[in-house]
Amino acid sequence: MPTYRAPVDDALFLLNDVFYLDRYGNLPGFADASPDVVEAVLREAAKLAEETLTPLNRVGDLEGCKHNVDGSVTTPNGFKDAFQQVRDGGWIGISAPAEFGGQGLPATLTEIVNEFFSSANMAFSMYPGLTQGAIAALLAHASPELKKKYLPKMVAGEWTGTMNLTEPHCGTDLGLLRTKAVKQADGSYQISGTKIFISAGEHDLADNIIHLVLARIEGAPAGSKGISLFVVPKVMVKDDGSLGNENGVSCGSLEHKMGIHGNSTCVMNYDNATGWLIGEENRGLNAMFVMMNEARLGVGVQGLALSEVAYQNAAIYAKERLQGRSISGVKYKDKPADPIIVHPDVRRNLMTMRAFNEAARALVMWTALKSDVAHRSEDEKERQSADDHMGLLTPVIKGVLTDQGFANAVLAQQIFGGHGYIAEHGMEQFVRDARIAQIYEGANGIQALDLVGRKIGRDGGRALMAFFNEVGAYIKDNSADEAMKPFVTPLGVSLGHLQQASMWFMQNAMAKPDNAGAGSYDYMHLFGLVALGYMWCRIAEAAKAKSGNGAAAYNAKLVTARFFMERMLPETAAHLARIQSGAASLMELPDEAF
Ligand SMILES: Cc1cc2nc3c(=O)[nH]c(=O)nc-3n(C[C@H](O)[C@H](O)[C@H](O)COP(=O)(O)OP(=O)(O)OC[C@H]3O[C@@H](n4cnc5c(N)ncnc54)[C@H](O)[C@@H]3O)c2cc1C
Repeated sequence: MPTYRAPVDDALFLLNDVFYLDRYGNLPGFADASPDVVEAVLREAAKLAEETLTPLNRVGDLEGCKHNVDGSVTTPNGFKDAFQQVRDGGWIGISAPAEFGGQGLPATLTEIVNEFFSSANMAFSMYPGLTQGAIAALLAHASPELKKKYLPKMVAGEWTGTMNLTEPHCGTDLGLLRTKAVKQADGSYQISGTKIFISAGEHDLADNIIHLVLARIEGAPAGSKGISLFVVPKVMVKDDGSLGNENGVSCGSLEHKMGIHGNSTCVMNYDNATGWLIGEENRGLNAMFVMMNEARLGVGVQGLALSEVAYQNAAIYAKERLQGRSISGVKYKDKPADPIIVHPDVRRNLMTMRAFNEAARALVMWTALKSDVAHRSEDEKERQSADDHMGLLTPVIKGVLTDQGFANAVLAQQIFGGHGYIAEHGMEQFVRDARIAQIYEGANGIQALDLVGRKIGRDGGRALMAFFNEVGAYIKDNSADEAMKPFVTPLGVSLGHLQQASMWFMQNAMAKPDNAGAGSYDYMHLFGLVALGYMWCRIAEAAKAKSGNGAAAYNAKLVTARFFMERMLPETAAHLARIQSGAASLMELPDEAF
């Protein structure tokens, strides 16, 4: 059985020593997030993750969810109790506004807690996670009446939330969607249609499920400009807040799938279900983007979370498993063989995972802090630049963290040899669970297109320029420091690759859009490496101040930073070369040749 220890100390180091949480004290909610409160919250979340959610991970995988004859869905044994604990602990609403019963703490804390919960049990953590996404969309776009009706119960975890976009014939291209909404005299809408792959669409963890549904109002334009967003409760809510009759929503079946068995993936049938418009007519995609951006960051966190838990177990195994002798001479004479951690190739796998995890955690935290600024600052300019950062980095975090999260789950599995392939050690479950994060919330190829096609050129490239300026200024400010040279010098080279790639798109993609499509995936990963490299510089700078005698953890940071610079960051050159090769060889063969 795999184990898990939440990386609380690493999170605290990042918050306090790298990102100086105390400097954000002017933002609402941050004054309450004093260092002792933050530490207490994280230690409590760690306890729940380690003691309650981790043991249920295998149970959820083996049992899965059951679809009953009456259409209800039963979650795996123990999920109900665990969800009750999540609810009682107020975890869903730790960052939600106090007026709806939340604790108003920084959203950054929610992201850290969500990493712990996802490492412990990704399938389970999606029930509260999707609820948080639905809360965000309602907060941003719903009318005061709808907010009052739904938010307090959702924030309290009494009701959960879902997002319903996908239909059998449309996933990426939502402009094709057919679910229909017909306006009623009382201002509500009758919603009819079928949605597929709906996570947490039906379950037994809460009294009500609040579905956010994309549908087309009768007579609305075809394509993506005719889509609206609706709130459709599973059970109708009366004006006094009590539950009324069942709505016309039902779960037709559950999907059988590769991983996350403990999460119900539902076909949802809407049969003249009553719903209410969120935001403006035909602006549904815009409203749903709030939930999608929130969810994309959350899915990126899932990639990191699985990489972390897979790494932890691989590191334990590598120290225990005895095979062969070190090529530089016997290391453990008292043992019949050396533990496999002495072998450089096993170290390569371990260091790759570790160097990713620690920087990816920083990248999530940096971006989550920007999200807090974007939502809470009173300074419009500050809000705008934080929002720019979020827009630019969200597809990078979603795409890169989930690709590398899956790759790292495979690396960890490799360290177990054949024992990683069989079920006993739980490593194959991590691989299966990690895989979906590359696909849902917009497949990673679509994240890359979003980055190249929409984000880098938006507002005259304002967000991209701000990123280049920040990283460039950091390199300049630190390049004279001998101790920082091993970090900032390679970062400077890779930043140059990113700038050249951006310029290449400007010069070569306007006239030939396939050049953008052909290079977008490499660009996303090139961007991710530069962002992670920048994070490693910031981490190294903070670790340097603390390292020295007796500070092994900080010295380890400096070694890991060097590993990243020497062995992972150089990949930016290959990405640039591929981007600059353009679309020709990709597109030359006719479709029939495949
Ligand atoms: C377990 C699970 C849970 C899910 N949960 C939810 C949920 O809660 N709510 C919800 O609404 N949906 C959910 N989904 C659906 C998921 O978001 C979609 O499967 C995903 O967005 C991809 O859509 P699709 O499957 O229709 O693939 P398609 O859109 O058919 O895409 C197929 C492939 O083509 C590529 N592609 C498509 N268009 C382009 C393009 N223009 N340019 C380049 N490449 C392109 C894609 O990258 C992809 O690799 C879930 C799916 C699964 C499997």
